[in-house]
Amino acid sequence: KRRLIMSEDEYVDGVLKGDRMVLSRAITLIESNSSKHFVKAQRVLQRLLPHTGKALRIGITGVPGAGKSTIIEAFGNMLCDRGHRVAVLSVDPTSSVTRGSILGDKTRMGTLSRRQEAYIRPSPAGGTLGGVARKSRETMLMCEAAGYDVILIETVGVGQSETTVRSMVDFFMLVVLTGAGDDLQGIKKGIMELADAIVINKADGDNLLKAKVARGEYERMIEYIRPATEGWQTHAYTCSAYTKDGIPELWEVIRAFREVTEKSGVFQKRRRGQLLEWMHSMIDEHLHSLFFEDPVITGRMPEVREAVLQGVISPTQAVKELVNMFDVDRAAR
Ligand code: GDP
Repeated sequence: KRRLIMSEDEYVDGVLKGDRMVLSRAITLIESNSSKHFVKAQRVLQRLLPHTGKALRIGITGVPGAGKSTIIEAFGNMLCDRGHRVAVLSVDPTSSVTRGSILGDKTRMGTLSRRQEAYIRPSPAGGTLGGVARKSRETMLMCEAAGYDVILIETVGVGQSETTVRSMVDFFMLVVLTGAGDDLQGIKKGIMELADAIVINKADGDNLLKAKVARGEYERMIEYIRPATEGWQTHAYTCSAYTKDGIPELWEVIRAFREVTEKSGVFQKRRRGQLLEWMHSMIDEHLHSLFFEDPVITGRMPEVREAVLQGVISPTQAVKELVNMFDVDRAAR
C-alpha cells in the first residue's frame, strides 16, 4: 500500500504522528550510505529538530551476559505500564561482524518488542564508531520527534563505545555481575568513572547475598573515583531483572538525578556540551576522510612516508608538506 519512495513531507508528518513504519523508514534513510539518501535524511531531520530533546536519554553498558537486555525488558515494560513511550537503541561498532546479533536483538526483549508503546532498533551495521555514533544520535532524535519520551541506549564494553554512548546520554549506568572478586578487578576504572549508577544485577536466589556483598565492595571503590556528573553521587544498587526487585527503585534514582541536575543546570549544560562535542567530532572525521581520500595526498603518501623513514625529512616537515598539497575545495568536490 505504501509507496516505494516517500516525500520529505510524508516522512516528517509520519514521524510526528508516531507512525512506526514511517519512523523505521526514516531511520533506514539516516543509516543509508548513499549521498542522495543522506541529503534527504538531513532535510527531514532538520524539520524534526524542533520536536526533539524532550526525552530522557539513558545509556546502559556492561559485559555480555551481565543482563542488559533482561533489565531493559523489565525496565521498559515497567515504564510502558506507567504511560511512558520507550525507544531502545544500541551502539555496536562490531555489528558488521556479529550482524547486530549481540545487541538490540528483538528476540532478547520479547515482550517489550511486542508493545505498541515501545520501539526497538538494533545498531546500524558496520562502519567506524564515528559513523555508527552519528547514525545513532540522529536515530535518537527521530525517536524523540516520534514521541518516545525515554530513550535507552545499550552498548557492550568494547573499546570506545561506552565513551561514545556516554557522550549522547543524560544518565549512564553500568550493569555488573555479582560477587566474583575477579569481576571487580576486570572492570576498568575508566568505565566506572563514566557511570551515574552501578547496577548489580541478578540479585536473586542464591545470588542475593553475594550481590549485597558486591554492592558494598563497589561502594568502597566509588569513593576513590571522580563522579561522572557534577553534583551527583554515584552509588551501587542491586536489582533482579527476574524478580523485578530494585527495578522501580532504579527509575526513582534516575528521576532524582534529573531533578537534581536540572535544578543545578548541569543537565542543560551537559546537553549543550554534547551538541558541540558532536559537531567537533564530526569536523574531525570529515576533514580526516577528505584528507586521506584525496587522490593527491594518497598519491604522494608512499614517497613522503619513505622519506620520513629514511630520515630525509622529519614527521613535522612531512605533515607541513602534505597539508600544503591539500586543497580542501578540490577534495570536497
Ligand atoms: P546481556 O548480554 O548483558 O544483554 O545479558 P542478558 O540480558 O542476555 O542476560 C544474560 C543471562 O543472564 C541470561 O541467561 C539471562 O536470563 C540471565 N539473567 C538476566 N537477568 C537476570 C536476573 O535478574 N537474575 C538471574 N538469575 N538471571 C538473569
